[in-house]
Amino acid sequence: MARNSYYQSAHWRALKRATHERDGWRCVVPGCGSSKGIVCDHIRTRPNVDHPTPFDVLTNTRTLCGTHDRKVKETASGQRRGGGALFVQGTDEHGRPRDPAHPWNRPRP
Ligand SMILES: [Zn+2]
Repeated sequence: MARNSYYQSAHWRALKRATHERDGWRCVVPGCGSSKGIVCDHIRTRPNVDHPTPFDVLTNTRTLCGTHDRKVKETASGQRRGGGALFVQGTDEHGRPRDPAHPWNRPRP
């Protein structure tokens, strides 16, 4: 995330707080729920400007833990790491276990 003065603004502080309040101060990645090192992440990357934009709204923010933030954090070129896909190790993007032998994946009677 490129740093600019927007991230010192009252607008950003209020948006960040509202995002964390909505998400219960926990990472929103299915199956994660960690509160360690949480950050407020823009789902769609905001333009690197110092004033509020249409990207700076609750529908475009989410709480991520430090681990998941590092997984998708933009590179210097602005690309999302891992294509922006977020999941807990061993699960798919819905938080379901990838292991076909996991009890959740057994056929139902
Ligand atoms: Zn997480």
